[in-house]
Amino acid sequence: SLSDRLGKIFDGLRGRGALNEADVDAALREIRRALIEADVSLEVVRAFVEQVRDRAIGVEVTRSVTPGQQVVKIVHDELVGVLGEAATPIDLNAAAPVTILMVGLQGSGKTTTTAKIAKRLKDKQKKKVLLASLDTRRPAAMEQLKVLGEQVGVDTLPIVAGEDPVTIARRAAREARLGGFDVLILDTAGRTHIDEELMAETAEIKSVSSPHEVLLVVDALTGQDAVNLARSFDARVDITGIVMTRVDGDGRGGAALSMRAATGKPIKLIGVGEKMDALEDFHPSRIADRILGMGDIVSLVEKAAEHVSAEDAQKMAKKLKKGSFDLDDLRGQLQQMKKMGGMGGLMSMMPGVGQMKKAMAGANIDEKVFDRQIAIIGSMTKKERADPDLLNASRRKRIAAGAGVEVSEINKLIKQHRQMADMMKKVAKGGMGSLAGMFGG
Ligand code: GDP
Ligand code: MG
Repeated sequence: SLSDRLGKIFDGLRGRGALNEADVDAALREIRRALIEADVSLEVVRAFVEQVRDRAIGVEVTRSVTPGQQVVKIVHDELVGVLGEAATPIDLNAAAPVTILMVGLQGSGKTTTTAKIAKRLKDKQKKKVLLASLDTRRPAAMEQLKVLGEQVGVDTLPIVAGEDPVTIARRAAREARLGGFDVLILDTAGRTHIDEELMAETAEIKSVSSPHEVLLVVDALTGQDAVNLARSFDARVDITGIVMTRVDGDGRGGAALSMRAATGKPIKLIGVGEKMDALEDFHPSRIADRILGMGDIVSLVEKAAEHVSAEDAQKMAKKLKKGSFDLDDLRGQLQQMKKMGGMGGLMSMMPGVGQMKKAMAGANIDEKVFDRQIAIIGSMTKKERADPDLLNASRRKRIAAGAGVEVSEINKLIKQHRQMADMMKKVAKGGMGSLAGMFGG
């Protein structure tokens, strides 16, 4: 993963106060690669990396994270800045019927998304919606919209054979007005690629229907073409937003960055499946994570900066390297988990430490439980904490009395500790180096 690769680059660079040019350039080579792998267009990658470079040089490295993690955090924040800080909803702030025009290439998901948006407006905003298909190129296209409309319980404009798209658009507007509809969504025909005929037709439809929103629907798997596509449509019909479909697939979503950077228009919604409710608001931060493929690094850096000192991290790294994890360490983890609001502690945020996370989650995440467990460990002697094998029945009874809990709770804690220690040994055997590396060791 990106963070592993960055970890290697920065291995020799610990202990510096601020990121220098060489550090940043080495990291940016990896970042560039990650962006290209995520299908961000080369043009956008170049501009973006330059922007990050300017921001990153000279930045103070938080003591408890590695410079690599610090750079990833900066890149993430810049990505979110470009993608837009927050979700942008569909704008219905106009006189009814508010018209939404759906445009895009064939197969991008226009018809599906038209029905999904209608369902959402009907269910969540109680809008009366009319759908109309202007796709006269494929006989089945109008029927497809009609079927989907019925499925989501929204009206579709009756189909009249032989009409051209502009005539249908006019009829739809009239019907929407007379029928007292709040919203009219026009689904258009696409082409397999951008051509003048498509653009001219789309522009004409736009001029007769005066849409309040013009949404460009684009498949998330669109690679290098995304920039051209978005630019062409925007230049010709002035889009108001973008819907990215198939975000449920393998694509990393780099197209979102390309299109946003090329047009400045917001990504408004994402399609995450074929079902009618598989439509979500666009959250820039999630797509940024996806583009970088970096697990929870960002929240790790944020939390670590707040709560964990570099010294603690170093100590833990040494312990993990040796594969030893005693009750003192468990107490430290419990204290951290408390501070981090039960997030599962520093370790649970490490990419690839899923099993450990599970064990922690299994250990009832509840502030009071943490407090009791910390108290139990506090009632043990130093020797007992370092060597839990000493804890026989009489010692357990003494500790229970000291901490004011039942012996069964002591047993549970010891069992939990053993499970965690076992898991850490396993992690230590396979790829401990990377995990320890993340702690700065
Ligand atoms: P159009 O030609 O632009 O109208 O595209 P359609 O709406 O007909 O969609 C083409 C295919 O993509 C259909 O099989 C849809 O079910 C599928 N599709 C649309 N949106 C999504 C999505 O968000 N995720 C997935 N997995 N499939 C989608
Ligand atoms: Mg269609």
